[in-house]
Amino acid sequence: MSSPPVYSELDRPAKFLKGVGPRRADLLARLGLVTARDVLYHIPHRYEDASTVQRIAALEPGMEATIIGRVVSKGVIPTRKGLRIFQAVVRDASSLIECSWPGQPFLDRLIARGDLLLLSGTVRFVHGRQLQPREFTLLARAGEEAVEEGGAIFPVYPATEGLSHRQVRKLITENLDALLRGTAKEEVFDAVLLERIGVPPLTQALEALHRPESIAAAEAGRRRLAWEELFFLQLLHARARHYASAERPGITFARRDTLVRPFYASLPFALTGAQRRVLREIGEDMASTRRMNRLLQGDVGAGKTVVALFAMLRAVENGYQTAMMAPTEILAEQHARTLTNLIGELPVRLQLLTGRMGAAERRKAQARIGSGEASIVVGTHALIQEGLVFRQLGLAVVDEQHRFGVRQRLALSERGTNPDVLVMSATPIPRSLALTLYGDLDISALDERPPGRQPVRTVLRDASARPKVLEFIREQVGAGRQVYLVYPLVEESEKVDLKSAVDEYERLRIEVLSDLRLGLVHGQMSGEEKDRAMRAFASGEIDVLVATTVIEVGIDVANATVMVIEHAERFGLSQLHQLRGRVGRGSEASYCILLEGGAEAAERLRLFASTEDGFRIAEHDMRLRGQGDLFGARQSGLPAFRFADLERDEGLLRQARAEARRIVEEDPDLAQHPHFLGALTVRYGERARLFHAG
Ligand code: ADP
Ligand code: MG
Repeated sequence: MSSPPVYSELDRPAKFLKGVGPRRADLLARLGLVTARDVLYHIPHRYEDASTVQRIAALEPGMEATIIGRVVSKGVIPTRKGLRIFQAVVRDASSLIECSWPGQPFLDRLIARGDLLLLSGTVRFVHGRQLQPREFTLLARAGEEAVEEGGAIFPVYPATEGLSHRQVRKLITENLDALLRGTAKEEVFDAVLLERIGVPPLTQALEALHRPESIAAAEAGRRRLAWEELFFLQLLHARARHYASAERPGITFARRDTLVRPFYASLPFALTGAQRRVLREIGEDMASTRRMNRLLQGDVGAGKTVVALFAMLRAVENGYQTAMMAPTEILAEQHARTLTNLIGELPVRLQLLTGRMGAAERRKAQARIGSGEASIVVGTHALIQEGLVFRQLGLAVVDEQHRFGVRQRLALSERGTNPDVLVMSATPIPRSLALTLYGDLDISALDERPPGRQPVRTVLRDASARPKVLEFIREQVGAGRQVYLVYPLVEESEKVDLKSAVDEYERLRIEVLSDLRLGLVHGQMSGEEKDRAMRAFASGEIDVLVATTVIEVGIDVANATVMVIEHAERFGLSQLHQLRGRVGRGSEASYCILLEGGAEAAERLRLFASTEDGFRIAEHDMRLRGQGDLFGARQSGLPAFRFADLERDEGLLRQARAEARRIVEEDPDLAQHPHFLGALTVRYGERARLFHAG
């Protein structure tokens, strides 16, 4: 259906480039550069701005300076304290200056007499003027032709052993014009659109990246490539969304209000502004002819369940059934209890369905679901197992959707004829990341807490405070409360971590807290074992639950008031946030104690202690750790962007989403945009064709 990519000069092997023989080709391959195109897209990882180069004669102590000069002498000088300093004297046309690198004697091997260096750093006064370079770039070796001095931006390329960044630059410079000619046919965006987005055409962008006139020009070039990445992903999402909703007419739910209104009247509290806004968004989706496919994000306790119940009652009052699927038995049971309480006297039958039910009980449940007698069905994966038939499923709600795959989400909605779909997540993620990961969904955020909840008091303590913490635990248990004690368990060192968690549990159980009832739960246990431990905790048979992060999702014990997290510095902020969300669920004052933060994590942890806003924490986490590292983003299919940066390019991302949706609405099959379809297939292969009407 799509044409194969047109053969281009740029698809030729890199060895046909000027200055590339077989040996060079091997070195390029080490950098992952196999074709001419790879070389063209091998863009600098930084730039040295020599347009601001100063004359050495003009430097004065205290200045921040960038200079270019040749090394006239150099050497390593030992100091009395045993520190070794590399020093080089550098000369330009105006004067010379001593440059000093304390503690970096190895530079003696990298820098030679006669080298032309670009240096930037602070000028000090140490027996005369001295430059302490923060960065240096080798522009040319002795005898090598000097690149134009002054007025230039020097691109610095990723290099490899045997192929220096200067050699890479030379190679690219020599071939750039020919390579750029090859891009003329590859432009897929028309000038009007590029203008609207505010990014340069492809050829111009690539030229600016390799031969920038200014730092800003290079940045504009990067934005163009980022635009392409973001746009095509959004195009993929927009098509998925189209085939999932627009193409298949949804159910038009009328505002009968026979259940919704009495439910509203029965609520003992006023809805928050965020809840009202989100309910409006959901209400519009449900009333429209298009199928709802919406993600509802919000912290634990933000009031998602209440919102979901409104939507469910809307479906029920229209004569449809509705199902809510949760990732664990305990969570499903909790939901069933919560919903039952909220439903109160309303004439609505709720049915629970989990894997734990006996055969007879299950048959009965299935019969009630099949006959339509049960209008709200709550369950686990059991809901998508063979043999379960709904009479008329109109709305599918999926809780903690990141624990399910796309396929399972779809499987639940396949239980009906194009039911509306609402997926919920208690793991707030930054909006830009949500748009990237779940671009096929519409997104609602509950970013406001219901009033009256007790804040969780969060404190940082170092190892010396451990005895006091144990005392505090004993005190709380004495007052009838329960405690979580969490140990980190990271994949790379899982075995060691697990051993230390289990050892510590034994030590606490037998020695330190032998007077309390302790339980253990960790990832290596079977589902059943985990379940048993959690249930024992939930029913109060255990005072202190020692755990690895498996308790992140799926347990709600209002009586638990203390969360102690060992080696807090080893957790991401969003993970810590999930853990903290396990306490503060009842009316008693609650505490989160972060143990052994360590100095370098202190700032991060202090920010965490200062707020309970999951969205803020997630944004901070993303800034610190990068988008790829977050929330298992890699596993959940976040593409590795080479040029786009979700934080920096959020505006571009929104534009990409809007453009992609507009185009797909007008031309879902991209018949008028064959070049888009081609580019989409090159980028995403089969996935580009995955979502089809049939
Ligand atoms: P979530 O599902 O997002 O974790 P819930 O819907 O379970 O949150 O709500 C958490 C608690 O707050 C519940 O006890 C619920 O009844 C209560 N709640 C929800 N919305 C409000 C509100 N607007 N005002 C006061 N309490 C609320
Ligand atoms: Mg609808």
